[in-house]
Amino acid sequence: MTESQYDRVARDSADVVVLGAGPAGLVLGNLLLRAGIDCVVLERAGREQLHARARAGFLVPHTARVLERHGLAEGLRKRGREHGVCEFRTDDGRFRLDYRQLGRGEQHTVYPQHDLVADLLSVYEAGGGRIRFGTEARAVSGADGPSPIVTARTDDGRPEQWRGRYVAACDGRHGAGRRSLPPNAVRHHTDHGVSWLGLLAQAPPSLDAVGYAVHPDGFAGHMARSADITRYYLQCPADATADDWSEEQIWDQLSRRLRADEYGPLRRGPIVQRGVVRLESDVLEPLRYGSLFLAGDAAALISPSAAKGANLAVLEAELLAQALTAALAHGEAAELDRYSERCLAHIWRAQEFSHWMIQLLHAPQGPAGTAQFQDRLRRSRLYALRSSRTQQDWFAENYVGI
Ligand code: FAD
Repeated sequence: MTESQYDRVARDSADVVVLGAGPAGLVLGNLLLRAGIDCVVLERAGREQLHARARAGFLVPHTARVLERHGLAEGLRKRGREHGVCEFRTDDGRFRLDYRQLGRGEQHTVYPQHDLVADLLSVYEAGGGRIRFGTEARAVSGADGPSPIVTARTDDGRPEQWRGRYVAACDGRHGAGRRSLPPNAVRHHTDHGVSWLGLLAQAPPSLDAVGYAVHPDGFAGHMARSADITRYYLQCPADATADDWSEEQIWDQLSRRLRADEYGPLRRGPIVQRGVVRLESDVLEPLRYGSLFLAGDAAALISPSAAKGANLAVLEAELLAQALTAALAHGEAAELDRYSERCLAHIWRAQEFSHWMIQLLHAPQGPAGTAQFQDRLRRSRLYALRSSRTQQDWFAENYVGI
């Protein structure tokens, strides 16, 4: 940077600079604001983009409790819908698990992530919270000292610098938080070798349950989002692109794999969003590097097979808010020291269950003999889930747990 460019850099500061306005960043921002901690949220996207990004929908009871506890659950309470049944459709027939009656007797609340983000944003701004849209964090420097600096750039190309006492990277898997980690950061990563075509259909749900189809052609999933929007997933080849299939081919494949001939037709409608999701997982260890903390997808990426990502993001945001508040308002740093360890216990539990779900739902790949063996194991797992109350209780506890 030349001297004249340096002079044109806008400089500002906040005790906590939060990167990213997803569920993690906005829950954190709200909790800090409420605790009287000076913070700012830097968000790469514009407000409209943020409102339109449909992703998660299934929130576990812990998430609802966190939002309720901090006065952030009004939208969820009014428009969220309780959901407690899933149905597996396999070669050996179908079976339903009413998980409200199993495990701890808990259920999901279905509430689209972009509605949750809109709620969190509106409460944050109504409380006077500072947020900068169209501002992309490029790097975090000085995290090994007491005043880290976030270098950012606005949509119209203006450079900015934000100085904080702490930086919370809630900016997802490709964000500046991850890019700024020291070389000794450990990333545990696995590619599950499976891709899904993720679809949003403008069509009412076709089942009164989450549908999981285990089919020789590949997995298909059905998840209600609202009275007139349904999320579907279709396992697709690794090299597939989102536009490989026409709408008719998509509905035909969904019908075939969900065995509509046997169990009833699907309610079709226009596909309003589609994208290929590669099922990958990773975990960063630790989640703290001096004054830089990671939360949400920036801390750990989890495949959507068990719907845990947004739920982990909210859990971590609450823990981080508590730790930062203790440090900044009361001078107690012990919780910051424990933040990484506390989150990692939940993250690894969620990763294990998500991995189990992947193995349950997908035809194994690999050499013929090994694949056949794996397929037998998968059938045995499904049989245990269908027939063993103990197994069903374990499933229910993990399905809605975090
Ligand atoms: P994000 O929601 O990704 O938010 C990060 C924010 O940071 C974004 O707004 C982004 O624009 C911003 N950003 C990125 N880089 C920068 C930068 N350099 N500077 C400033 N801002 C930046 N999870 C569930 O719990 N339940 C589900 O049912 C579920 N279903 C899913 C379905 C699909 C198809 C997908 C893809 C995911 C699903 N997930 C689900 C996962 C869930 O959506 C994510 O785990 C969740 O969004 C993570 O929240 P986050 O706040 O960490 O990150």
